[in-house]
Amino acid sequence: MKIESRLAQIGSISEPVTGAVSFPIYNATAFRHPRLGESTGFDYSRTKNPTRTVLEEAIADLESGDAGFAFSSGMAALQTIFALFGQGDHLLVSLDLYGGTYRLIEQVLNRFGITASYVDTNRMDELEKYRTPKTKAVLIETPTNPLMMITDLRGVSEWAKRNGLLVIVDNTLLTPFFQRPLELGADIVIHSATKYLGGHNDVLAGLVVTKGKELSEKIGFLQNSIGAVLGPNDSWLLMRGMKTLALRMERHQFNALRIAQFLSEHPLVDEVYYPGLESHPDYELQNKQSSGNTGILSFKVKKARYIDPILRSIRLIAFAESLGGVESLMTFPAVQTHGDIPEEIRNRVGVDDRLLRFSVGIEHIDDLIADLTRAFEAAAAEEQSGEGERHS
Ligand SMILES: *Cc1c(COP(=O)(O)O)cnc(C)c1O
Repeated sequence: MKIESRLAQIGSISEPVTGAVSFPIYNATAFRHPRLGESTGFDYSRTKNPTRTVLEEAIADLESGDAGFAFSSGMAALQTIFALFGQGDHLLVSLDLYGGTYRLIEQVLNRFGITASYVDTNRMDELEKYRTPKTKAVLIETPTNPLMMITDLRGVSEWAKRNGLLVIVDNTLLTPFFQRPLELGADIVIHSATKYLGGHNDVLAGLVVTKGKELSEKIGFLQNSIGAVLGPNDSWLLMRGMKTLALRMERHQFNALRIAQFLSEHPLVDEVYYPGLESHPDYELQNKQSSGNTGILSFKVKKARYIDPILRSIRLIAFAESLGGVESLMTFPAVQTHGDIPEEIRNRVGVDDRLLRFSVGIEHIDDLIADLTRAFEAAAAEEQSGEGERHS
């Protein structure tokens, strides 16, 4: 069955007693055993919960994996994956990275003796240069957030396999609707399901999908042992959101491309970062490994002084952290999402004080363009009046 149909039918697996088409929320934490040595398959909800199981099976299927796991947040999902590693282990990690993942590695994992090198994961020579005998895995974001750099998933997976490394891909920005890393050779996919999968800025969740029996058993053991699982109510809410993923992603992509084109031609804008633009350096690679583009884009305005008036003047677009919801949000990464990354590293990648990230929602494109146009006009007007004062 096509992915649109599988998405729409998540949880509609006819609950056997009543035939309900929306899967019930099982709040029970304990399950009665028929007799000694027998179980319904459910014992205690941290280990396994019927509502969470439907979600976990759905994401495993959507990502073409063997097993799925639901967590209380994207960070909880990442922490559980990182528990595969121990004292002395080393990771290769995408240079332009979600700030929270950087913080988890540098301020938490480091204390347990796990270290990382931040590299351009699309450059084999860089990967090779930073690989040590202690390196265990590569963690890739593609596209990266906020600078939209693309990594060749097939190429890196082949290189990693030759060197005995696990490939972990954060697929938050594209979702399985547009990109399925396990089909390209990755071993583990992780999602902040808080973003596109949930899609409505109203549920915090993380998902993991694994390939292979051994890895699936290890993550299952860690999920139960660490216990950062997703509750049944949030599991249900997330599945409700996922049913419309195909429709939403198509609209996000449609709107984002038009916004990217609008920004590319705007006199106050210096640069636009969006893999859907033919001018993007990895446009072809992106088209080869994904069937579509995210609704996230970033852009640099010509002067840092434009940032404040733009963020004060947008009305339909909210000045807020996060991404991937139906509502448009704009973020200033240097102080918000990437504030925990040292300035030196931020500048090396280009996350500076002229960069804005735009999570383009599913509103009408005309209204979004009108909101941006007005915000840019306000920034230009402020500059004019500021200059006027100085000259008078
Ligand atoms: C938001 C995000 C995370 C963290 O997920 P939470 O659900 O906020 O814990 C990880 N990776 C990426 C790419 C994200 O955007």
